[in-house]
Amino acid sequence: MAVIEVSAPNPLAVDCQACAGKGVFQGMFHRGICNACDGLGLVCRASGELLDPLIAALELRRRLNEAQRWIELPRAAAAGGPGADYQGHHRGGGNWTGD
Ligand SMILES: [Zn+2]
Repeated sequence: MAVIEVSAPNPLAVDCQACAGKGVFQGMFHRGICNACDGLGLVCRASGELLDPLIAALELRRRLNEAQRWIELPRAAAAGGPGADYQGHHRGGGNWTGD
């Protein structure tokens, strides 16, 4: 079984140009699912047609992982530093007050 690295961009998938990767189109009076990508927002890089479901799932998983990593960044940064010593139960610990 081949190992597929899901953190790297999938070379077979690109954003749908018809809907700019949104999966929906905005008409004059209504909004609907993009026909070019069936609402996925992604198409095959080579043909511009619908993606194989496995390729689509892998690319969506990669994008979700990337988005979650960006969401976690501020939380991880807030968990460290001087403020961490003043939160929760701690035994001993550093003195960051500068005195
Ligand atoms: Zn589309």
